[in-house]
Formats: sequence, C-alpha cells, structure tokens
Amino acid sequence: MQKLKILFLDIYKKEGFRINKDVNGAFGTGNNYIGGFFTKFLAKYQKESIFWPPIYFASTMGVAEKLGNTCKYSTRLKDANNDFDLFILSSSIVACETELKAIEYLKDFDLPILVIGPFASTCPEKYIQQGANVLIGEPDTTLFSNSEILSQLTTLSKLIYPSNKQTKLENLPMPSWENIFEHKKCVMGFLGTGYSLPIYASRGCPYSCFNYCTYPLQQGRNLRNESINRLVDQIEFYIKRLKVKSFLFRDPVFTINRTRVIDICNEIIKRKIKIVWGAELHLKDIDIELARIMAKAGLRIVFVGIESINPESIKKTKRQNAPIDKQLRSIKILEKNGISVKAMFIFGFPGDNLKNALKTINYALSLPITYLQFSVFTPYPGTPIFSEYKDKITAKNFEEYTQWDLVFNHENLTNIDIKYLLNKSYTNFYSSILRLARIFYRITKIELRKRFGIF
Ligand code: SF4
Repeated sequence: MQKLKILFLDIYKKEGFRINKDVNGAFGTGNNYIGGFFTKFLAKYQKESIFWPPIYFASTMGVAEKLGNTCKYSTRLKDANNDFDLFILSSSIVACETELKAIEYLKDFDLPILVIGPFASTCPEKYIQQGANVLIGEPDTTLFSNSEILSQLTTLSKLIYPSNKQTKLENLPMPSWENIFEHKKCVMGFLGTGYSLPIYASRGCPYSCFNYCTYPLQQGRNLRNESINRLVDQIEFYIKRLKVKSFLFRDPVFTINRTRVIDICNEIIKRKIKIVWGAELHLKDIDIELARIMAKAGLRIVFVGIESINPESIKKTKRQNAPIDKQLRSIKILEKNGISVKAMFIFGFPGDNLKNALKTINYALSLPITYLQFSVFTPYPGTPIFSEYKDKITAKNFEEYTQWDLVFNHENLTNIDIKYLLNKSYTNFYSSILRLARIFYRITKIELRKRFGIF
C-alpha cells in the first residue's frame, strides 16, 4: 500500500472567545458569553488558558502513522503545500463555514482532501459540495480496519462508506499527541498549570437524552470500554513522553459503570501516579465510597449536567435527572472530598420561560458548587429533536451554533431574554468574593499536588 505524507489541518475561526471542537460530541462549542465585565473576562481567560483539539483527530493521526504514513498537525492553512499527498481536515458545526473556506483554498493544490469527524459524518452535504471527500463514521476505528481508504482517495469529492466493521478500542494505536504538541501544547487552566490531555476510558452513551444530545451521534449508544491496563499505560506514557500533568476524561458519563471506575482508580493508586484529573459524570451515581477513591486517585473537578429545574423541560427532552435532594447530597459529598463541582444548566429548553429560567438561576446560585455554566438549548442537526425545530431555525450559518446563542424562534424567550439570563447568572455567581476565593484555594491545592505530590 502506498505510504502518504499527510497534513492534518485543524482550522479555527478567529474569535475573541474560545472555540473547542472536541466538546459537545465533537460538534464543538464557542464560549461566546456576551454581556458584562465578568462574562467578557471569563471568555478571554478561557481562550488564553484552554486548548485541546478533538480526540478523534489525534487518534486518527495515530492510526495513519501506524499504517506507515507520515503525518503533521497544524492549525495554520499556510502550512499546506505540495510536499503533502493528502489533506485531512477536522470538522465541526462551530467552525463549519471557516472549514469550508479552508477547503476552497486547499483545492488549488490539486490534492485529495478528506474531512472527518462526527459533524461532517452527520451533515456531509456542504463539505461534499465544496469539493472534499467525507468519511462517514468514527474515523479512527474505521480507518484502522479499512486501511485502503487513505491511498484510494482522489480529488473528486465523494462520500466514503467503509466496507469493514470498526476495530475495537483496545486494538487502536495510541493517539498521536506528540505530533500535536510539536505544533501546539494542550492546556486546561481549570486543571492548573502545565500540560493536559483529554482521554477516553469508554465511548458511547445509552441514555434517553440522546433525543437532543450530540454525543451518541459521535460515539453511538452502545458502551465500549477501553482496557484498564492500556488506559493507565497511556497515562504513564504521556506523563513521561510529554510531561503531561493532568488529564480530562472525555467519556460521556465517566461513572456509568461503578465497578470499572473503582478498578481504574485502584490501578492509578497502585502505580503511584500522582496526577490530577477531571471527568463528566452523573450525580445519581455518587456515594461517599466512590467519591473518596476517585479523589484519592486524583479527581479534582467534575462536570455535572443538571440542565434545568423545570419538570416540563426535563420531561420534553427525555432527561433523567437525579431528584433534587440527591443532587444536593452528591454535590456535598464531592465538594467535601476536595472535588470541585461544575454544574451545567441550559436556558431555552422546550417549555422554558423567563420565570422558570430565573428559578433555575436561583437554584444554581443556592448550590454549594465551585463552578457554574449556563448555556443555551440548541437543536442540533442529526439529533431526533431537530425534526421539531427545523422550520423554526433562525441561524443563517452553522457557526452561530456556539451553544451560547439562540438559533431558533423560541416559544417564550427572545435573544434579548437569553443574553439577559446569561449575563445575570454568570455575573451573580462569579462576582462573589467567597466563590473566587474558593476557586483560588482549589487551584492552589491542585498546583501543590502537581509539584510536590501533596493533597
Ligand atoms: S447522558 Fe444524555 S446528555 Fe449526557 S452524553 Fe448521554 S445522551 Fe448526552
């Protein structure tokens, strides 16, 4: 098979806020907090202190290298030239039009262009019309078991449907983070200073909120687990090779299998790896024993989706939240064990109105959490709920789907209401001296663990 020189291009729109193409099921988000001083400061801080590319991009590069190709990663279009045989582009809803412009530019080199990722796989039309090939499916597992695809690409745009099944996670080569670090280091300010990496212990989410969520579009609804030994080997490898100090587990629900979580933590503890890590999990899964062992293994921040306290909204989106008293109990357990909780809420769910949204803000402000996030309900193309919204969409471009903009005609809320609610919630939460002191205290403890192994 022909060995190729491949440029992996991860192109971002130039904005004053952070764009991340890995989160939100790799459809991406843009932290476009509009409003007062605190929201602007927060957006700027996040842009400066957080960067990581989509995991599927690093993993596909690892696959391409394992297949004998030579790969380079870049976020700059100017790195494209005719020394390469193929351009592979990441895709996202949040930088879609910028990616389309990049394809227009790359066509002048008269080389094959391949677009990968869950967004292009779900909405390939624009990329195809622009002249690129689009790979349908999960790119890393698909390309590893269909290795002929890369060398057969041409400059004719085509949808690529793989013929063989995806390989298992445990058979994949490691993501090529070395290649990415040569161009740009990954950092996550919320996990302190030093380099950070995102990592998967599992992929897939079987929960019913797939109705509006993009994660199952990316990873499917079947849970697939990484082998625990291989996972912890990867952690050790990147600590030694790239001097990584912290990891963010990007599993849709890290605690979906309690026994496995305990086994992962025990393996980290047994190998005496003094890392700091974060994860997204469900409050209904938390108990004292689990929180203690996760904290001992280095868990310092969790992201929990509460979304809304309006029962009608929760019902319409088919979400299964923990009861309010359980939410509070779990948050207290986590925070007491030194694990900062970032509670995530959404404005503009079906049935939401100003009164309910203000109630949700008051509830959020009453919680003993360290961080808070409010974003805006967004019906994403490809999700089941999109069919109810497709005639109400007001956004002209996909790049307006930042998750902080209202992209449709809401039955009760206007764009001005949404901006008012976002500004109110962030300002009220983050302008508290006590809360800022708590964040500073937690980040200081993270630094002490990283530098001296204490805490
Ligand atoms: S639990 Fe629901 S919201 Fe979370 S990743 Fe799974 S489907 Fe999406």
